[in-house]
Amino acid sequence: MINILTPVSQGTGVVLKAPLSGYILPLEQVPDPVFAQKMVGDGISIDPISNVLMAPCHGEIIQIHPSYHALTLKTPEGLEVLIHIGLNTVTLRGQGFKPKVKMGDRIQTGDPLIEFDIDYVALHAKSLLTQIVITNSDQVAALIPHSGNVIAGESVILELTLTAKVSENISTSNQTLTSDEIIIPNPAGLHARPSAVLANLAKKYQSKIRLKRGDQDANVKSVVALMGLEVNHGDRVVLIAQGSDAAAAIAELSDAIRSGLGEEGTPPMAAPASIAKLDIAAPPPHRRSDDPNLLLGVAASSGVAVGYTFRVREQEIKVTERGDNPNTERRKLETAIEQAKLEVEALRAKIHGQGDPSKAAIFAAHQELLEDPELMEIATSAIDKGNSAAFAWQQTFTNSAEELAKLHNELLSQRANDVRDVGQRVLRILTGVNSTQPIYPNNTILIAEDLTPSDMANLDRSKVIGFCTVAGGATSHVAILARSMGIPAIAGTEPQVLDLTDGTPVIIDGNKGSLQLNPTATEMEQVKALQIEIAQKRKADVANAMKPAITQDGYQIEVVANIGSKIDAETSVQLGGEGVGLLRTEFIFMDRSSAPTEDEQTEIYSSIAQVLGKEKPLIIRTLDVGGDKPLPYLPIPHEENPFLGERGIRVGFDRPEILRTQLRAILRAAASGNLKILFPMIARLEEIKMAKAMLEEEREKLNTPAVSVGIMVEIPSTAIMAEQFAKEVDFFSIGTNDLTQYTLAMDRGHPKLAPFVDGLNPALLKLIDLTVKEANQQGKWVGVCGGIASDPQAIPLLMGLGVKELSVSVPSIPTIKAQIRELSLVQCQELAQKALNLETGADVRSLVGAAHN
Ligand code: PEP
Ligand code: MG
Repeated sequence: MINILTPVSQGTGVVLKAPLSGYILPLEQVPDPVFAQKMVGDGISIDPISNVLMAPCHGEIIQIHPSYHALTLKTPEGLEVLIHIGLNTVTLRGQGFKPKVKMGDRIQTGDPLIEFDIDYVALHAKSLLTQIVITNSDQVAALIPHSGNVIAGESVILELTLTAKVSENISTSNQTLTSDEIIIPNPAGLHARPSAVLANLAKKYQSKIRLKRGDQDANVKSVVALMGLEVNHGDRVVLIAQGSDAAAAIAELSDAIRSGLGEEGTPPMAAPASIAKLDIAAPPPHRRSDDPNLLLGVAASSGVAVGYTFRVREQEIKVTERGDNPNTERRKLETAIEQAKLEVEALRAKIHGQGDPSKAAIFAAHQELLEDPELMEIATSAIDKGNSAAFAWQQTFTNSAEELAKLHNELLSQRANDVRDVGQRVLRILTGVNSTQPIYPNNTILIAEDLTPSDMANLDRSKVIGFCTVAGGATSHVAILARSMGIPAIAGTEPQVLDLTDGTPVIIDGNKGSLQLNPTATEMEQVKALQIEIAQKRKADVANAMKPAITQDGYQIEVVANIGSKIDAETSVQLGGEGVGLLRTEFIFMDRSSAPTEDEQTEIYSSIAQVLGKEKPLIIRTLDVGGDKPLPYLPIPHEENPFLGERGIRVGFDRPEILRTQLRAILRAAASGNLKILFPMIARLEEIKMAKAMLEEEREKLNTPAVSVGIMVEIPSTAIMAEQFAKEVDFFSIGTNDLTQYTLAMDRGHPKLAPFVDGLNPALLKLIDLTVKEANQQGKWVGVCGGIASDPQAIPLLMGLGVKELSVSVPSIPTIKAQIRELSLVQCQELAQKALNLETGADVRSLVGAAHN
């Protein structure tokens, strides 16, 4: 926010009245260093007993947080007063808060500003302590805090004397600074990722910051606006910042742009994901074919299939143009956006752990779009002109998407689809229109102008065998999803594909990027023969699924399932699963507004155990949230590095009642089957000792028999100290998803690093080797439940290193059992020893590939 200060003479005094009734606490005593160390500014804190925040003085609302737990007002003298209700209340996402004012409102002392549900906030936030601080404290010569009990709107809490410098400050705090010219080094210009990096850096600053190229400029805090500027490699730009921290902003952002926003010297990001591995030569979109029976496009996902076309049309949502009063409409939009964020978070969580970081990254990008200030600003200004929230939002995102689609930079233009996807999601919430799921015929090749990642997350996989879009390219998120689903896809297809009558027979070739219409019977037969071969292999694997996975030389490997629900457990048993190696209990905690009770959990765990019977193991992992798996009702304060912060068992120690409840539920359910407990994110020996002590305490209280205890080996320290850990537990389950990210120091969801986050990197194999050797020394067994346990190339290596149990994704159980039956353990051991001495993950993969052929 830019200061528009009125010059005042030295000695001008300002008095602030209590915004809430309660007891005054010195700021230093607030249990939050940001306030206690006066990083935000000087002031006081109130332990409140009233629930309507009142204006402490006259002024103007210059900032109101979207979660309504904090606002800033500016006094006529130019002081900026931040009032922050509670601690960590941002995580409540507005729940329990009702704003009574909006940005720009002029207020009088005692006016109601925010009403809040004092019980809800007390129960769900860290503290109710409410801070009143002067954020431009440099303009205060003297500050006298009052103490004791205060009454809202009546008692004085702060007496302030302003400095004479105020008038000088006007020029500095209001100044507009322009950077030197910066030449964009990024080979693909400021496409989505560097734009996101830049926008995130800029959001730290209060100043208004714009990026200017020629006579066009864009709000730097908005990814959408930055992408819309279509800044290319070699373009000359300047930054213009206006506000109190303009100088610092210009300095940091100029440097960041000059050094490539994290990607200088690297080739343009081919795709946000594993496309780098795919060797797809992407021809320009809309290649033309002279053959009327052949439509060309871009190879987006490999594979060939024969099927019948089915055109998908975007659901049209009708909206009314005029709205209620702007306050109500604005709030509707904000609530819908918050709801959309939760939905996207849930989608992210759903695909978490499927071992494909690129998919999670797509939804992370969607979350970024939902926080885009430019989209919000445009929509809000349309609302202020009397439009309904739905109309304003629809116009905003459609225009934005159209602008992006027009850009010449392919990486940028393909993000238009993502804007449309999140836009439609918010619109559906606003209008209450549910997305309708079409009924697809068998062997459907979906034809669409474009498909959104959300469309694809909800596809009927048993019917849809390929897709073909007019928009998009090999780098689109849809292409990434198609690859991860193993479905052939072509994008950027010639537009006449949209004119095909539903049911037209076609061969889709995702390797060549072509759609052959009305193929001859022989051609169809050839493709079908190939498909039949694959299907027969699958059928045979499924038919043999109940047989044990015994190697050619007579060793049995246990093949169990990674599950998240009772339905998964049922399917896993039908597909030959020999138990559950990992029940991710976080799925049981998700999609709800509060944690499941002890009784509810006991019932869920018992019912899963009953599906498996008395013999098959059910390994229940205690709640592993935090990192990229948030729970709305379990707020974890914002962290710079969530993957290195409160996650897994650390959350359990911080909120022992949650962990203890879960342990009691597991112990109570233990009688129903062969239950074992698995603790996640154990990094230090003290942690497993503490977790075991808690378990033992609860067990003694319940007087139930002991259960086996294991830990996830997913942090390098645990693998390195496997000898000591093995003495504490009954088994290890190696979580290669996290072990890989922590060993290589590469975020498992990072789109650019995705091709390198390979669990077959020899560094990982060495850690697995060490873990197994130390466990064996103590007579303990080791399983693997991370994504590589379902990777056919990893199986012989894991077996060769001595892993006894593979906990795999449910659909892959029959195939993996079949693969194991073809292998010889002795040969796997030889192969693993060779792999341990190789240099790179790619070397390891070629070694396995060569051994296979
Ligand atoms: C892992 O880290 O490998 C694992 C199985 O746990 P999650 O993917 O749930 O973090
Ligand atoms: Mg993990």
